[in-house]
Amino acid sequence: MPDYDYDLIVIGSGPAGHRAAIQAAKLDKRVGMAECNAVVGGVCINTGTIPSKTLREAVLHLSGYRERGLYGASYTVKQNITMEDLLFRTDHVIRHEIDVTRHQLMRNRIELFAATASFVDAHTIRLTDVDGRGQRDLTTANIVIASGTHATLEPHIPFDGQRIFVSDDIPGLRRLPRTLAVVGAGVIGCEYASIFAALGVRVTLIDKRPRLLPFLDAEIVEALAYHLRHNRLTLRLNEEVSGIEPTPDERVKIQLVSGKQIVTDMALYSIGRTGETDKLSLGAAGLTADARGRLAINEWYQTAVPHIYAVGDVIGFPSLASISMEQGRLAACHAFGIDAKSVPELFPYGIYTIPEISTVGRNEEELTGQGVPYEVGKAQYREIARGQIIGDSTGLLKLIFHLDTRELLGAHIIGEGASELVHIGQAVMAFGGPIDYFVNTVFNYPTLAECYKTAAFDGINRLGR
Ligand SMILES: Cc1cc2nc3c(=O)[nH]c(=O)nc-3n(C[C@H](O)[C@H](O)[C@H](O)COP(=O)(O)OP(=O)(O)OC[C@H]3O[C@@H](n4cnc5c(N)ncnc54)[C@H](O)[C@@H]3O)c2cc1C
Repeated sequence: MPDYDYDLIVIGSGPAGHRAAIQAAKLDKRVGMAECNAVVGGVCINTGTIPSKTLREAVLHLSGYRERGLYGASYTVKQNITMEDLLFRTDHVIRHEIDVTRHQLMRNRIELFAATASFVDAHTIRLTDVDGRGQRDLTTANIVIASGTHATLEPHIPFDGQRIFVSDDIPGLRRLPRTLAVVGAGVIGCEYASIFAALGVRVTLIDKRPRLLPFLDAEIVEALAYHLRHNRLTLRLNEEVSGIEPTPDERVKIQLVSGKQIVTDMALYSIGRTGETDKLSLGAAGLTADARGRLAINEWYQTAVPHIYAVGDVIGFPSLASISMEQGRLAACHAFGIDAKSVPELFPYGIYTIPEISTVGRNEEELTGQGVPYEVGKAQYREIARGQIIGDSTGLLKLIFHLDTRELLGAHIIGEGASELVHIGQAVMAFGGPIDYFVNTVFNYPTLAECYKTAAFDGINRLGR
């Protein structure tokens, strides 16, 4: 075995790289990490997950949105909410998360290089200092590429980061719009559209597909669309955007292929993300990325070169921080011969729209397509005391179970706390539990978790046996 400088070099300090590095360090390996951004944490901490979720929480609090079911539509904690109000909370959380991440890297003796990494060959990484002044080459036995993504930009759209912008720009916005067009109704587009709509911004959400979030259960998507419209959001589905341009009166004009025009104060362009691979000199290591900058991997997260792994958003779907972390851990374990497994079918999906959505397992369309006989049990939050107490009368928890074995096959939730509640269903599914488990167990009262019991009763009653 040649004598390398490191056992593992990780490229990128987002959740995927962070977890890979920590796992390798726990195995007593010599680990280096390159990060080209001025701070650690990647898109997750600095521009994506943490800012969007904190902004959402700030909106929910300051707008009084959660309390409106009880105190009326005019209830608000603060009038004239500004971008500064929202960013106050966001900045605080980002700073804290960066600090925690740095501390964890230091504690685990991971050597952090503030540099852009690129390949010299399959075992040598070139580190170019962020200021461009210095360069050095390091050799390593293994490499984990966790370089993430950036929002996809189109050359014909005049992005300025303030009036026409992508989600990465949102933490830097100086003011809030009165009207906003969101182009692209994927997860990020839907989340921000619903957050701005809850603030009272008149939002138009445009997508060329006929349906929002097609991977979700159709009933949950219908409920989301209902809530979005209730918050005065206009949905323009089956509509393709042909151009976006600033107008002389400091607004934005969105031209649709159908001939329609939409004029708003600002436009958020959210049509997807592109793998951050162009600075890596992949060819020097014998690797290539696809047209969207993504790397192909096998079930162990190995690229075409077995000691070079790729994890996180740079490998594409599902592009979640939660799953990126797990991929990082699994890749590092595999690199050092540790047997570690995960069950991807049971990964939950959290979508922080307002209202929140979370889902685990299969949905009705998937089961129908696979010819699996199933029944459904539902609970509305308004049937549950906790739903009344917190003022969420529209939430819905839907369980899907096998008609014969009664095994839980899926849990789909829309409403307050959905992304926490889903883990109960996830745990029962992990152990192959039947829907009867919820009937035969006791939940704290009053809680939203009781929805599981009500939904189970509803499902069993539908069986008529
Ligand atoms: C608006 C938004 C909201 C989101 N919300 C959620 C959510 O609620 N829940 C969830 O689970 N996920 C969410 N995500 C997805 C989540 O942020 C990503 O899945 C996660 O950040 C991916 O982690 P990563 O480590 O692969 O990449 P990243 O977090 O993108 O980190 C990659 C890092 O690599 C660095 N890098 C790139 N190239 C180089 C190089 N050549 N040399 C050195 N360093 C390099 C970058 O600077 C960056 O710091 C959201 C994303 C966005 C954009």
